[in-house]
Amino acid sequence: MFGWGKKDRKTPPVEPEKPANGIPTVKFDPTRVTDAVLADLKENIRALPEVGANDFETVYQASVRAISMGGALNIIYAALIDIEGMPKRRAEDISRSLNFKAKAIMNAEQQTKLGIKYATWLYSGAPCRVNPKQPGGEDQDAAHKAANGKPFLISKGMFLNGEWTWPGRKEGCKCVSKSMIAGFDGYNGGKPKGLVE
Ligand SMILES: [Zn+2]
Repeated sequence: MFGWGKKDRKTPPVEPEKPANGIPTVKFDPTRVTDAVLADLKENIRALPEVGANDFETVYQASVRAISMGGALNIIYAALIDIEGMPKRRAEDISRSLNFKAKAIMNAEQQTKLGIKYATWLYSGAPCRVNPKQPGGEDQDAAHKAANGKPFLISKGMFLNGEWTWPGRKEGCKCVSKSMIAGFDGYNGGKPKGLVE
């Protein structure tokens, strides 16, 4: 009914794009990098103690490019590793975190654009903590684990540990969301059962 997989014999099969230099081709719509994404990105970079005022613009521009390319983490990493005293591991974590947070907003915006109102919170299985080998973040992890499978209003988020948040938005959070679409997974399109408002 959606027309997926329909065969049109007149058109030759579309060849998948060949990755250049071994980097897989990422099809990404750069218009998804909205003002809200950029504003949040700025805030997230400013919150990093390792990135001083002099390095802000370089890291910001690199992050915008990386996110606009669908998550080219190596671009953010290259900008971060140039900062004196930046450990490799920390540069990796920051690169991943900045991209993940941007993705979380872009996903929420995309869901809203498509008329999707509710989503299910999905815990990844990996602890929602910045460094699972060190203490800290246990409360966040426990709350996110408990939120697994629960519905939330995309425009509002979920109230966890005293604040409204979305999957993937908090430091160390690896959660994602799954759109609730009427007719799928037993969802009838109304207000989902168990929604906390
Ligand atoms: Zn989480």
